[in-house]
Amino acid sequence: MRLPDPALVVLVGASGSGKSTWAAERYRPQEVVSSDALRGVVGSGDHDLDASADAFAILEQVVAARLGRGLCTVVDTLGLDAVRRTGWLAAARSAGLPAVAVVLATPDAECRRRNAARDVPVPAPVLAGQLKRMRVAAEELAAEGWDVVVVDGSGAAAEGPPVPHTAASTPERRTSAGVEVVLQVSRFPWGEDPARWLTGLALEADRLGLAGIALMDHLVQIPQVGRAWEPIPEPYVTLGLLAGLDTGLRLGTLVTPLTLRPAGVVAKAVATLDALSGGRAFVGVGAGWWEREHLGFGVPFPSARERLDLLEDGIETMRALWAPGTKAWEGSRVRLPETTCYPRPAADVPIVVGGSGERRTLRIAARLGDGCNLPSDPEVLAAKVAVLRAHCADLGRDPAEVAVTVLDLPVVGHDRDDAWRRVERLRGRTAAATYAARHHAGTAATHAERYEKLAGEGVETVFLALADLSGPEDLERLAPLLA
Ligand code: GDP
Ligand code: MG
Repeated sequence: MRLPDPALVVLVGASGSGKSTWAAERYRPQEVVSSDALRGVVGSGDHDLDASADAFAILEQVVAARLGRGLCTVVDTLGLDAVRRTGWLAAARSAGLPAVAVVLATPDAECRRRNAARDVPVPAPVLAGQLKRMRVAAEELAAEGWDVVVVDGSGAAAEGPPVPHTAASTPERRTSAGVEVVLQVSRFPWGEDPARWLTGLALEADRLGLAGIALMDHLVQIPQVGRAWEPIPEPYVTLGLLAGLDTGLRLGTLVTPLTLRPAGVVAKAVATLDALSGGRAFVGVGAGWWEREHLGFGVPFPSARERLDLLEDGIETMRALWAPGTKAWEGSRVRLPETTCYPRPAADVPIVVGGSGERRTLRIAARLGDGCNLPSDPEVLAAKVAVLRAHCADLGRDPAEVAVTVLDLPVVGHDRDDAWRRVERLRGRTAAATYAARHHAGTAATHAERYEKLAGEGVETVFLALADLSGPEDLERLAPLLA
């Protein structure tokens, strides 16, 4: 690909990714403004970090002077500081020069190897921080408005935002035991930058091979998870953000109470999510149970029977709106004079029914669900699956059409000691042994064994929720579970 010339070219990459090499192969030395080289000019050498402020002051001056003359300028820094980067972009704009970002997407391990081979390596934690920031760099650049974004390393060149994966282009992600592990996110300790926390989490989940992300759908944080003043984002807006990332993650809710908004409106949101994500959407639905969040938001909270009716009618309504054509539709209790719902989902969207009320919820799941979400405790699970199967038999539904999924809330420690530290931190007033048993406190390896057993009992998907998920870097402890 031929880059515009003259142009402002900003290099983005971790130490050792090959930025300086890339620039030297393509540009005259005078055209490359390097923070390392300037550290060598005003400090004791290229790696004299004490000279950074002076070096960057000069770098800014050189960049401004060159752009002001309309000269080609290559900025060779880490390029990971969005404020500096957008400053250069603005300077190029006012100079009338095209602005190019070049991402050196060299594999992490290769950067580490090259760094270690250097005379003065960057400390490992510093490099790790750079590599982490690199994971969201492409998304950030896409949002900043560069004229050209080149991703080097894959040899791929892209203009504008990355093209997300589609369901079709992503192989099914199952553990060796045969289950799909979807991260259920229920707590959002995102600090000052919610979007960065969320996108970082999704990119890391994708990298580790998780099959998807499920978000809780509540208007107020529920007492089982956290405190009412802790943030809990609206899930469909949030999933829209994640749909724009280049991942193969399936995206959905666990679960959307069909009391909170009319099922048709949920169908619209899910169809849109599916269209935007290339067919990666799923939706969990439930009857709603928490009166407080309804009253606090001015949403009616009808009787249990009526809520279950809403669930049953709602699933029918969603399916009707996703079916081909726009003809009128009549369910047992609901009539739609037309079913005009565009965009349509890109693929069949699985509907997972949450809740384990045996008389009605499991019957609704047996009649209308693609999946039925149950507790992961083996004894409870076996009993509920038996009831689900009985409903299927009674309704003449093939039980293989209703996937069994479970919500699992494990305590996952790096090692045994870490697992117990986490139990101690999380247990509140529950006795430690009780809490540990209820949450199967252990290492990823012990959970992998448990998931193997669940797979043996016919579980297809585990929705895994961590009570103490702090952020993207905290997912690494799941890696052995996903291998
Ligand atoms: P920077 O810190 O991102 O500017 O990385 P450099 O350009 O200084 O490269 C770091 C090291 O990797 C140097 O020893 C380079 O010779 C080496 N290097 C850079 N690009 C490549 C490449 O494409 N292939 C190989 N094998 N080595 C490279
Ligand atoms: Mg360099």
